[in-house]
Amino acid sequence: MERLHKGACHCGAIAVELRTPRAPAEQVIGACQCSFCRKHNARTFSDPKSSATLTAREPEQLQLYAFGLSTSEVVICRRCGVYVAMLMTDQGEAWTTLNIDVLDERAAFTRPAEPRDFSAEAVEGRIARRKARWIPTKLVGWPAGR
Ligand SMILES: [Zn+2]
Repeated sequence: MERLHKGACHCGAIAVELRTPRAPAEQVIGACQCSFCRKHNARTFSDPKSSATLTAREPEQLQLYAFGLSTSEVVICRRCGVYVAMLMTDQGEAWTTLNIDVLDERAAFTRPAEPRDFSAEAVEGRIARRKARWIPTKLVGWPAGR
């Protein structure tokens, strides 16, 4: 049975919907070891069998930040500072890995976060892995050119 989880940044400017076939307690949660995620102590979720929608209710609050190889961008709310997702786009398609703690039902995702270190990857391998493992995502209200 597909489940719908809703969430948002703290102030609500950036909304998230996640549709996933598995129960929250069965979901594998990652603890990405990149320097950005370490600073946020972020718990992340990615699953190609799920789907997500990221909605910029207030596009002017959208902050995108790239670092390292710049193959993806971090989605942050400019007003409240919440880290929402990592986003990769390619030819009109988008994939994300979500900060699971932006979901209203964050407490239901009870599995311990598993450390993930992708720092040794080259660019092409990284893009291919994300397309295979991240969440196919629809962007709504996104500024043109993003
Ligand atoms: Zn916000």
